[in-house]
Amino acid sequence: MSETVTKPAVLILLGPPGAGKGTQARKLEQKFGLVQLSTGDLLRAAVAAGTDAGKAAKAAMDAGGLVSDEIVLAILRDRMAEPDTRNGVILDGFPRTTGQAAALDSLLADQGMGIGAAISLDVDDAAMVERVSGRYTCANCGEGYHDRFKTPAVDGVCDACGSTEFKRRADDNAETVSARLEAYHAETAPLIAYYEGQGVLKRVDAMGEIGRIADDLAAIVEAAAS
Ligand code: ADP
Ligand code: ZN
Repeated sequence: MSETVTKPAVLILLGPPGAGKGTQARKLEQKFGLVQLSTGDLLRAAVAAGTDAGKAAKAAMDAGGLVSDEIVLAILRDRMAEPDTRNGVILDGFPRTTGQAAALDSLLADQGMGIGAAISLDVDDAAMVERVSGRYTCANCGEGYHDRFKTPAVDGVCDACGSTEFKRRADDNAETVSARLEAYHAETAPLIAYYEGQGVLKRVDAMGEIGRIADDLAAIVEAAAS
């Protein structure tokens, strides 16, 4: 039997803020050993570190708008150059514009990687403001929680790691969430048609239970890898 060489695949998670991209990306990371790559996390790290890119990105992020393609692409390229991405990545929050999608296509072509699937997490906009404005994460391990929908089993103690420190994002308030939803519809939703045209689009109903959505995603990833 000849050895089959699987081309390292890139998975893209598409969906508005609050759709659960980060939550699901973490689950896929654990299950499939892929690396989660969130441009939001990378940008927040750049802001916290006070780099030039971080300084330039901060105002757009605080207002709920998009950071320029130039800055986001530079950060993404640097991250994709690290060796842990070679077996495949889950992109969470990138691409967010058609310009970024085209740049990703050429970056992947250079690296001999391909898009395994672009998965749209389909949700009702109206529910997203409530989801996003109630969410917070463990400051130690990043596990996600929500004031109403997902509280820790023991009040104030992370289920995953036992830490008692939690944090909330500065942009997770009702006003900024509305601006982010608008940016999603204007700039990012057109990517659904873009990936449909490439024949890699999958859609998942992301309004239900976290575990059921995770199962749907796992089935897509398994089918994309075979
Ligand atoms: P969410 O998906 O919940 O809005 P993210 O953590 O993905 O949160 O992004 C937070 C903010 O970072 C966005 O509102 C935007 O300002 C900026 N950002 C993240 N990714 C990108 C991107 N690919 N292009 C432009 N801006 C981005
Ligand atoms: Zn934790």
